[in-house]
Formats: sequence, structure tokens, C-alpha cells
Amino acid sequence: MAKSQRGSQLADQIRGTGRRMTKARQAVIACLESAGLPLTHKQIARALREQGFEQTTVWRNLMMLVELGMVHRRELGDHLWRYELVRVEAAGPALAVVYFSCLSCSGLTPVSTEATPTLLQQSLPGVGRISEALLRGVCCDCAKAVERSGP
Ligand SMILES: [Zn+2]
Repeated sequence: MAKSQRGSQLADQIRGTGRRMTKARQAVIACLESAGLPLTHKQIARALREQGFEQTTVWRNLMMLVELGMVHRRELGDHLWRYELVRVEAAGPALAVVYFSCLSCSGLTPVSTEATPTLLQQSLPGVGRISEALLRGVCCDCAKAVERSGP
């Protein structure tokens, strides 16, 4: 597993707290980093099951990362906790992130393009600075599954 710069930074931070950088911690960080969007515990556990990590091990390590302030826990309006690595903000204002959330499978897809933050902000004057938006509906896969099952 190639370690990213962000992964190495977090590993140093964890060691700095006197904890060991275990394979499970490394796997949870790598999973969140490669996803690039907030994931539920279930999604992380499913992704790491192949690597031999138990769901409870994933949970314990996820909670430790939350406690250390390295992972954010968020609820995006669908009553599911999702987790993501705390972003290292670049200089300047953060761009708005837009997600599409499937009401059927709870899948989350980032749908922002570079132009999205500007378009959103211009089309909704007077609401303040938008940092995140959530669209909800039925994803393509779920829509196809409904079509296939037919009437
Ligand atoms: Zn779906």
C-alpha cells in the first residue's frame, strides 16, 4: 500500500499522541482518503473486510480518529453518520461541495464541478456563503433496478 503524504502526516500525528500506527488505522485512513467523500461506517467496514479487518476493529479505530480530531463525523440530512478525513484547507475561501444522496441505497456522490460553487452562489443571492449542498433523489443504479423489476 503506497502511503500518501496526507497519510504520512496523519501517521506522524497519531504517533505524536503516543499511539501506534496500526495496520487497521492505516487502512481506515487510506480508505477515507481514496474515497474522497464522506463514508458511513458500514461502507468503510465493507471496503476493509477483504483486507481481513473486523467491523468492530474498523469502528474502534474510526472512533479513535474522530476523538483525535483527524476525522469529521457528519450527518447530511439522511440520518446516517458519515466520516471523512479533516480537510487541510488551502489558502483562500473553501469551495462549496455538492453531493447527491440516493434515497434508495444511501449512496453519496460528489457532483461539483469547478463552476458549481460560483453558479450556486450566483443563483442563490442573499443566503450567505454556501459551503456545502445536498441534492436528494434516486441514483442511476437504483433507477435501473426499479425499471428492470418492472410493473
Ligand atoms: Zn441508489
